[in-house]
Amino acid sequence: MSLTAHVPPTIFIIFGGTGDLNARKLAPALYHLFLDGWLPEQFALIGTGRTTLSDEEFRGRLLEGINQFSRTGKADAKKWKSFAEHVVYQAADVQDAAAYKEFSQRIQAYQEQWGAPANVLYYLAVAPEFFPIIAENIAKSQLAADADRTRIVIEKPFGHDLESARELNQLLGRRFQEQQIYRIDHYLGKETVQNIMAFRFANALLEPLWNRNYIEHVQISVTEQLGVGERSGYYDGAGALRDMIQNHLLQLLCLVAMEPPINFTADEVRNRKVDVLRAMRRFSPEDVRESTVRGQYGAGWMEGQQVPGYREEPGANPTSNAETFAAVKFFVDNWRWQGVPFYVRTGKRLHRSASLITIQFKDVPHSIFPPETAENWQQNRLIISIQPEMSIRLQVQAKRPGLDLMLNTVDMVFDYQGTYTTATPEAYETLLLDAMLGDQTLFMRGDQVEAAWDLVMPILTAWQGRASQSFPNYSADSWGPEVAEALIARDGFHWFTLPLSHGKH
Ligand code: NAP
Repeated sequence: MSLTAHVPPTIFIIFGGTGDLNARKLAPALYHLFLDGWLPEQFALIGTGRTTLSDEEFRGRLLEGINQFSRTGKADAKKWKSFAEHVVYQAADVQDAAAYKEFSQRIQAYQEQWGAPANVLYYLAVAPEFFPIIAENIAKSQLAADADRTRIVIEKPFGHDLESARELNQLLGRRFQEQQIYRIDHYLGKETVQNIMAFRFANALLEPLWNRNYIEHVQISVTEQLGVGERSGYYDGAGALRDMIQNHLLQLLCLVAMEPPINFTADEVRNRKVDVLRAMRRFSPEDVRESTVRGQYGAGWMEGQQVPGYREEPGANPTSNAETFAAVKFFVDNWRWQGVPFYVRTGKRLHRSASLITIQFKDVPHSIFPPETAENWQQNRLIISIQPEMSIRLQVQAKRPGLDLMLNTVDMVFDYQGTYTTATPEAYETLLLDAMLGDQTLFMRGDQVEAAWDLVMPILTAWQGRASQSFPNYSADSWGPEVAEALIARDGFHWFTLPLSHGKH
């Protein structure tokens, strides 16, 4: 995403170096950045956690993670060896202030060895309760005094509700400048998601149509086949609204609904996105009843395998009220979008894993064709498929070949795989590189996070205050609770899915 392409000497410190996120995402991403020549020779990765490990043992763990999760399969022995030379480990408890002196000494030593000042990134891949103490300790130890050279990267979840997000923002704000704070929403690093802005703002033909005069409604749907599995300890206190809608789905909505920024700088882009969140209609208790739906999966079968219901997952609370499905009808109250519904839905244990944005245009004002010529008449749709298929397709009506006049729907498709031969980087590669380059465009600003929390709070409060009597209300391998169909059917629409041939995994 970044326009500058030169990473200065960098020390990358990963808190939670022994954890799952590092093994699964961060280490493979850094390894690929190294392979692709993005990392400078003067680069050091310091992993940290409480576990006692030698540098070699830590490298071994990272290699295991890379071999298991890398997008290019097992690491090449020679290339891995060169990368591993940049990796060290320091055992430390994040609560122990003395440990930060050691970080300071290591940073000093690298700078002396390199004969150059280094940028330092502190990546917080630990449970959120540790964010404040790490931030405090970094600041107290003067490890982030140089605002131009030091950055702190915060993983999700950023707060549990509006109040906790505000507190965390205030705490960070006392210790860091906003330009140093990188709040990750990994969805924003996905190639197809980045392309929404390119597609909207690098093409003249869309803008005249991109408003309430031509668009009937918008759907954003992120569905997963996976269940919660071992993660119910975390998920029980979160639920789908917090875990997916407050962050990822609302960010997608902002990209669809935002006004054109005056340029492509981080703050201009983020200003226009936060405008959308601020313009979104707030929910009264009655709106929550009318315009939202929650669900929780029961037991069932997925692809020939019997799977447990949410309440029977390992370690789950057998009377849990956590929603594993949420659907909400939003409105953006401004000139461009007045009256256009934005339906969003997300859920686990659904029939298929797919992330789709569908823009449905209004029907033609008057049809000149007799009704019998329309085999399957459908209004124009623009479908942005984020995963597993990466494509943008425009569905239009066309004449079927033949002597009779028959109209049907055809797709004009921009498909990544068919168009480009270069491999698509993982979202974390984009985001880690941007953080190293100092580009905040794809990271959440403090006011964006708070505006998103502010919007969902009435829904969260209503759901928490009233346990659902109907849970579990959908079975595994379905498309969610029937009430979710009703939510959109009331307005004369239905949830859209791509046919199976368009990418199933
Ligand atoms: P995890 O596997 O449980 O790892 C937690 C890490 O924290 C371990 O490295 C652990 O190291 C370290 N840790 C715990 N207490 C510590 C202490 N007192 N001092 C120093 N280190 C300590 O968790 P995770 O799945 O990697 O998740 C980390 C963060 O990323 C969470 O905020 C999570 O929400 C977020 N996240 C994770 C994923 C994912 O795919 N895993 C995706 C998105 C976001 P020791 O045991 O060695 O102390």
